[in-house]
Amino acid sequence: MEKQDIRSLEWEKLKQDIQSLGEKPFRAAQIYEWLHQKLADAPDAMTNIPAALREKLKERYGWANLQIVDMLESAADGTRKYLFRLWDGNVIESVLMSYHHGESVCISSQVGCRMGCRFCASTIGGLTRNLLPGEMLSQVYQIQKHSGRRVSHVVVMGTGEPLDNYDSLLTFIRMLTDGRGLHISQRNITVSTCGIVPNIYRLADERLQITLALSLHACSQEKREELMPVARRYELADVLAACRTYFEKTGRRITFEYSLIAGVNDSEEDARRLAQLLQGLHCHVNLIPVNPVRERDYRQSDARAIRAFKSKLEKYRINATMRREMGRDIGGACGQLRKRYLEQAQGEEEKP
Ligand code: SAH
Repeated sequence: MEKQDIRSLEWEKLKQDIQSLGEKPFRAAQIYEWLHQKLADAPDAMTNIPAALREKLKERYGWANLQIVDMLESAADGTRKYLFRLWDGNVIESVLMSYHHGESVCISSQVGCRMGCRFCASTIGGLTRNLLPGEMLSQVYQIQKHSGRRVSHVVVMGTGEPLDNYDSLLTFIRMLTDGRGLHISQRNITVSTCGIVPNIYRLADERLQITLALSLHACSQEKREELMPVARRYELADVLAACRTYFEKTGRRITFEYSLIAGVNDSEEDARRLAQLLQGLHCHVNLIPVNPVRERDYRQSDARAIRAFKSKLEKYRINATMRREMGRDIGGACGQLRKRYLEQAQGEEEKP
């Protein structure tokens, strides 16, 4: 996008910009409110803004809007998956989940991903591009508008590696938590990373009250390298040291994500080693039965193995929960709705 995306501009910047057009600051406040509270998609929706200024907004800024291409709702638990088309034709996926504590949206941070985790569908086609802050916000805005449900929690756990799109992620968090926007509490935001160590330290220094979720998936350097190529760049010991610092600087307990794969990382010995590794760290382990991806031959651990793994961790006083699988009936693993769509689109192009 050649022009600056208007929804990616933080309040101070938008205010300066609008003033430089010879307008009063209250106009900037009105425009910001239209964008981030009333969730307007176009200048013409801004009914209290004079027509001439609306024209200027069209000329001066890019409007990186998201169009809903598809929406699937789970009959089992009401989970919704949204497929969005971006201004440049790329598609991304986001999820809405209802919990007793509120409505949670899982957003994507990139189109595709370059981290290459073996079990993950989102990385198969590589990275296409980073998302703009406004495109991350729009996933939340569009879902809130379309569903009529008030979003209270946001997890950055969709496609992409958020710490590989650091600056946009930070702008997104500031804008999402801003009182002039949806004003979501920092404590209700979770950012999940595969472990980009330098950026975990940077994030710790921001002293935000968000939750950091670390994708661990293995209890030794060797096994982690097998599953996650990024582990070759950032060693397990260094990742854990960064997590410790994150806790020390923010006081926020770390969540470790551990996808259980049958015969790969789910033995009781794995659980014991994991417990040892995390000893003394203020944390919580989220166990996720791996979601089978068609291109990979990883299988889910069976219920008995999962129970044994969890009780082993608890025996060592490591807090663990089994992630409830939401929306199982509507699209399997993360990123698969998008992948299916891309494959279909390609199939149609190839037809004579
Ligand atoms: N790039 C970030 C966030 C995106 S993935 C990260 O790596 O954390 C969100 C979580 O889902 C990560 O823990 C990821 O490892 C996990 N995940 C990806 N594919 C999965 C699959 N097929 N089954 C289970 N968990 C998966």
